[in-house]
Amino acid sequence: MNSRPTKLESVSIMCFQHCRKDVNIFYMDNMPHDCPVCGSDLSTAELRIPPFCIPSPFLAAHTTPCSVVVQPTGGHFLEHYQILDDLHIGVTNSQGVVYEYSELGPRTVAGSSWQQCICVYTDLAGMEKWDQWLDHQCHQPEWTTQRYDETAHNCYSFVLSFLRSIYQTQSEPSTHPSNTAVSSSRDRAGRLQSSSECVNLETVLSDKTTFCEQFILPKSLLATKYIALFKRLNDERVMCQQTNS
Ligand SMILES: [Zn+2]
Repeated sequence: MNSRPTKLESVSIMCFQHCRKDVNIFYMDNMPHDCPVCGSDLSTAELRIPPFCIPSPFLAAHTTPCSVVVQPTGGHFLEHYQILDDLHIGVTNSQGVVYEYSELGPRTVAGSSWQQCICVYTDLAGMEKWDQWLDHQCHQPEWTTQRYDETAHNCYSFVLSFLRSIYQTQSEPSTHPSNTAVSSSRDRAGRLQSSSECVNLETVLSDKTTFCEQFILPKSLLATKYIALFKRLNDERVMCQQTNS
């Protein structure tokens, strides 16, 4: 679990079609010399679809400011992650520094140490406000080492509490760092855009399960597919896949 993550910039999964429109051919590193479907020499062949890069769902946290980011609790996505493994969640500030809560209490870590994460939500309009509120939350008495509980009061609790605070829709107490920020966020963010539909904010943030279903599951499924492709290509270098059409 301590091995260094595969450098994301060195991972490039490519896809093309040669002779059949119902077969995608994937490769990593170098394009095969011959078509794995019909055996033709590809150096002179015309391709139905020329090679294009499959977008990676992973990024380094320092490249995605004001975001909710997720990575495996142990190890790295590409090398170690198995479906149903525990995920750790944090929030980046405007500089891409990750704020996280664990048995070590609340802390900030350089976004570069979250090399392979998935970003499940971003709010670039919130820049200043996120920084101010993240610092504020870290100093609240409920986020201490002693209060940490692996299932009931954990990294998800920390992130959900932060999002609820920043996007709350009820009228707001004076304990928050800026009432101005509260009003503007309330006006703007009555609804959040999830991966597939516009959903009610209060519903999404009401509990961990709903939040995971709306924001984390769709992205982690994409990540799982990409990891499966990466692992096969790591072994086989080239693979064919029947398309659905
Ligand atoms: Zn072919």
